[in-house]
Amino acid sequence: MSKKLGFLVNSDRCVGCHSCEMACKNYYQQDPEIRWRKVYAVKEGAHSTIPLREYISVACNHCEEPSCMKACPARAYSKRQDGIVVHHQSRCIGCKMCIMACPYNVPEYNASMKKVEKCHMCYERIDRGDKPACVEGCPVDAIDIIDLNAISGFGMDTNYAGFPNPEITKSTTRFIKPKALMQVRREK
Ligand code: SF4
Ligand code: SF4
Repeated sequence: MSKKLGFLVNSDRCVGCHSCEMACKNYYQQDPEIRWRKVYAVKEGAHSTIPLREYISVACNHCEEPSCMKACPARAYSKRQDGIVVHHQSRCIGCKMCIMACPYNVPEYNASMKKVEKCHMCYERIDRGDKPACVEGCPVDAIDIIDLNAISGFGMDTNYAGFPNPEITKSTTRFIKPKALMQVRREK
C-alpha cells in the first residue's frame, strides 16, 4: 500500500514560539511577507474564564482531494504517490484560482514573482530520509510527519476550533489537542 503522508501537529507541546515558521522561511529564503507555515494563538479564554493560551501551527494540509489542484487551469499542481501536493511554480500563471479554492487559505501570492507558492512538505528532504525543515526546527517536537496508512490515528483529531471543515478536501493534517492549557502570567 502506498503512503498517505500528513502533518501531525501536537498542540499539547506547542509553545507558540514560531520557530517552525522561521525554519521554513529560512530554509527556502522566502520573501518577508510569505509564510508557508503559520502559527496562530487560539483565542484566549476560548475554553474557560481563566486566561489560557493555546497554539496551533498549520501549513498545507496535503489534502486527499485537493481543491487547489482541481481549480488550477494551468495544471500547476500534482499529487505524489505518498500524498504530498506539490505546486510547480514554473507552470503557474498567477491567476489565484487556487487561493480562492483552498478552504484553508494556504497558497500565497508572491507579488514580486507574480506567482503562487505553498508548502510542499519538503519532499526533497523526505526523499533523502530527512524530516521537513519545520519539523527539525521545532524545539519541543510539536510537529511531525505521519503515514496515515500505517497508524491507527488514536488520540488524533482531524479538526480544531477555527479550522475549516477538514472533510471538504479530506485534509491529512492530524491534531493532538492540549490536555492542560498554559495559563498566562500577568502582573496583578
Ligand atoms: S490545504 Fe489547500 S493548498 Fe493544501 S492541498 Fe489542501 S486545498 Fe490544496
Ligand atoms: S495561481 Fe498558479 S497555481 Fe494557482 S490556479 Fe492559477 S495557475 Fe494554478
